[in-house]
Amino acid sequence: MTDSAPPSAAADSCLFCRIARGEIPSRRVYEDEDLIVFHDIHPAAPVHLLVVPKRHIESLITAALEDRELMGKMLLLAPRLAREQGAADGFRLVINNGPGGGQEVFHLHCHVLGGPRPWRQMSTGR
Ligand code: 5GP
Ligand code: ZN
Repeated sequence: MTDSAPPSAAADSCLFCRIARGEIPSRRVYEDEDLIVFHDIHPAAPVHLLVVPKRHIESLITAALEDRELMGKMLLLAPRLAREQGAADGFRLVINNGPGGGQEVFHLHCHVLGGPRPWRQMSTGR
């Protein structure tokens, strides 16, 4: 999808597209032209952020070679935001892909988890 293309039917109703467009509120910690980052509504750890591309990509299963720069940007942003949000000594990155991978929101996102234990077990989507 180019910037000028209208949103697809999927993007129209997609939860994270709606959050990215500001139609649904979120606790944002970062935004640029490609990405938004906000707190997970049901945190599994003291720090639980979602790094989300603004463009609707369903998962890594449907991501394409042209998305590689965006993927790299998502990964490289995680350490900085984890540290800024209080995960001082490291963090875990989780990407659930497809129903079999426990994905519940079908818009690609990285979970950034950190902070003192205990952590809640993340949903497996089952
Ligand atoms: P998945 O299982 O798809 O990898 O993760 C989806 C995540 O989105 C879950 O951790 C869930 O708590 C979070 N989530 C679902 N709905 C909302 C919402 O409306 N706002 C925010 N901030 N997070 C949400
Ligand atoms: Zn979407």
